[in-house]
Amino acid sequence: MQAAVLHGVRDLRLEDVPTPKLSANEVLIKINATGICGTDLHIYKGEWKTNTPIILGHEFSGVIAETGHNVENLKVGDPVVAEPNILCGFCYFCRMSDRNYFCENLEATGVTIDGAFAEYLKIKAANVYKIPEGFNLEEAALIEPLACCVRGIDQAKIRAGDIVVIVGAGPIGLMLLQLVRQAGASMIIQTDMEDTRLKLASELGADYTINIRREDPVKAVKGLTNGYGVDVAIEAVGSPKAITQAMKATRRGGRLSIFGVSPQDAVWEVKPFDLYDKELTITTSYRSPFTFQRAVRIASSGRVKLKPLISHIFKLEEIHRAFEVAEKRLEGAIKVLVKP
Ligand SMILES: [Zn+2]
Ligand SMILES: [Zn+2]
Repeated sequence: MQAAVLHGVRDLRLEDVPTPKLSANEVLIKINATGICGTDLHIYKGEWKTNTPIILGHEFSGVIAETGHNVENLKVGDPVVAEPNILCGFCYFCRMSDRNYFCENLEATGVTIDGAFAEYLKIKAANVYKIPEGFNLEEAALIEPLACCVRGIDQAKIRAGDIVVIVGAGPIGLMLLQLVRQAGASMIIQTDMEDTRLKLASELGADYTINIRREDPVKAVKGLTNGYGVDVAIEAVGSPKAITQAMKATRRGGRLSIFGVSPQDAVWEVKPFDLYDKELTITTSYRSPFTFQRAVRIASSGRVKLKPLISHIFKLEEIHRAFEVAEKRLEGAIKVLVKP
């Protein structure tokens, strides 16, 4: 099969590789579409370490092409998405009642083991979720990041009536926006550097948008909240600067959700006194622990719109261009998909 194999920093090659062989509990998925995630870009740029050679791509949809001997709940032709994180089930964290994805033997499809920038992918059947027949498979590739956002909203504990700022209007920020709206926020402010993204944020339910190139976001948020700041600020960029903006925009007693994934070596400088003085609650959010089923339901309900977030679709042969467009955010790029 054809696959895009990463051999080292910025060394992505289109190659013919063997189609994966299944074990008894696995299925083979014929990939329909795979999203380029910030994580893929971090690994591609060398900001996150992983073993190479590897096929990246963990946000995908497809159709079951083959099933292992023990697989009974899935059949050839089923449209599916899959949770990329694979837990061992027997380590310390896997056996905690509130088990998260801190599995000591965690593998992640497209991050530590071969992923979906390829024609086929194999994965444990237990990780696979059926989606409704007829659900658009390109939109379905966004269910994985949506599942991560569901975790973020759980962690941030949005309450009905909250005033919320979302720092960043990329694909993640725009999904968080829609989830925060569903959760009953009374006012949502979104910030970004790109007007095209902010326009989309308005269309998807943001009450106010702030372009941080033109306006000081902290001042602007204070101006919209009688000088107090928001109840909840969600950082959806993955940069220390954005975390600081979010923190400063939060009211005393408020909650700061650090959702974006910063480069591994980035450092956040903060005055601890400012955290004390605000009695700030800080939450973070790690991957998608058992939020996939709810993400499938939300996507299927149509209550969160995924289609407007897809800005580009490339063929697998065009993966270099696809990564360039995603990395440099060319042509108003939001979510870039690759189709084998
Ligand atoms: Zn991702
Ligand atoms: Zn484990």
